[in-house]
Amino acid sequence: MSKPDLARAELAAGDFLRALGMSLDSEHLAATPQRMARAWAELLAPREFDLTTFPNDEGYDEMVIVREIPVRSICEHHLLPFTGRATIGYLPGERIVGLSKLARVAEHFACRPQTQERLTKQIAQWLQDHLSPQGVGVVIEAEHSCMTLRGAHATGASTRTSTLLGQLREDPESRAEFLSLADRRA
Ligand code: ZN
Repeated sequence: MSKPDLARAELAAGDFLRALGMSLDSEHLAATPQRMARAWAELLAPREFDLTTFPNDEGYDEMVIVREIPVRSICEHHLLPFTGRATIGYLPGERIVGLSKLARVAEHFACRPQTQERLTKQIAQWLQDHLSPQGVGVVIEAEHSCMTLRGAHATGASTRTSTLLGQLREDPESRAEFLSLADRRA
């Protein structure tokens, strides 16, 4: 994605809304194209992030898992939001990362036109590349408004995706441990 051109987006948003039959004459709607342009720019632009990782000096080798991480993203097929929760875990190897940073990784990859499948894989791959862990697991459960508010009108339907790498994929015990921790509701 290149840098957003807000002025152009605002003009296009006005055209788009008029093409859909909306009149923007009322005072309430006059600035809607401008607000729309800003809102979409915010939803689609990844925030810069600097994720410091640390050497795993203590040799911690039990699973680190953060659950119930809020996720909101935009489906690239309809440009409608999907929202849900992620569970992100890893089995430390060479490096570790601050716990809150796992949520930042999810946010970083969510702020762009996405598919839930790709988002899940990108988060897992980032951890794999930056931490050289023994294993990584990411589960996302989300509701897609393109499916619940329109189209199939499948209100309440949720989609679950997962990516498991390394030991969490290959070792049945680690895999089961991660998936049962991911399943447990707070
Ligand atoms: Zn969609």
